[in-house]
Amino acid sequence: MKSYKSDSATPVMKGGRVAVVGGGNVAMDAARTALRMGAEKVSIIYRRSMEELPARREEVEHAMEEGIEFRLLCNPIEILPHTFPNDPKNPLNNFVRGIKCIQMQLGEPDEKGRRRPVPIENSEFIIDVDTVIMSIGTSPNPLIKNTTEGLNVNSKGGIIVNGDGLTSRAYVYAGGDAVTGAATVISAMGAGKKAAEAIDLAIKGKAQA
Ligand SMILES: Cc1cc2nc3c(=O)[nH]c(=O)nc-3n(C[C@H](O)[C@H](O)[C@H](O)COP(=O)(O)OP(=O)(O)OC[C@H]3O[C@@H](n4cnc5c(N)ncnc54)[C@H](O)[C@@H]3O)c2cc1C
Repeated sequence: MKSYKSDSATPVMKGGRVAVVGGGNVAMDAARTALRMGAEKVSIIYRRSMEELPARREEVEHAMEEGIEFRLLCNPIEILPHTFPNDPKNPLNNFVRGIKCIQMQLGEPDEKGRRRPVPIENSEFIIDVDTVIMSIGTSPNPLIKNTTEGLNVNSKGGIIVNGDGLTSRAYVYAGGDAVTGAATVISAMGAGKKAAEAIDLAIKGKAQA
């Protein structure tokens, strides 16, 4: 989509004020990367407190050291766009101007023992930002599932494979996050290696038949 061009419909955004929603390792990574790419200010927005923050401690410490702001007990409820009804060609039209949040407090523990965040009534406020990065988990893109007949997926959209990475379609293999859901580089590489061996054997077997 030519996003490297600043006048494209979806240009790569750099600099400005950035909000990162989420409190995991990926959120810390996104926040620190945004800062290193020239953001003026980066805020992590997380709906629970520091105690429940799921990122590894050292990731949090490094983010703090680098100057990331932590907005805790803070839940986003709306992303606000710039709107210029009388100037529809204004390049800022529909670009982010802020994020509306509500202050939270911790209530009773949920089934996992983590205290549930509860919104405080009438505590909404706006943080002025130019970019919002959602960092609250990923799931496999449904495009492949929707366009590939006979490809079985589980309830979370992950492609179902056997121990060799073979899917429900003959000679079609899968591995990594598309199978397991969000995981790690090393497990994706492992799955790729295993599938490569199985593909090699399958091709040799086919050639011999
Ligand atoms: C910000 C961030 C930080 C992370 N930090 C770490 C970390 O420090 N350590 C760690 O171990 N893991 C980390 N992870 C997780 C790690 O990146 C993933 O687990 C890993 O990349 C999964 O590898 P993959 O090959 O399964 O998928 P991906 O790396 O997502 O690769 C999938 C590829 O398939 C392409 N694709 C998608 N659909 C199609 C299609 N229809 N046709 C063709 N190509 C297609 C995509 O463009 C992409 O290139 C991080 C993730 C994020 C988002």
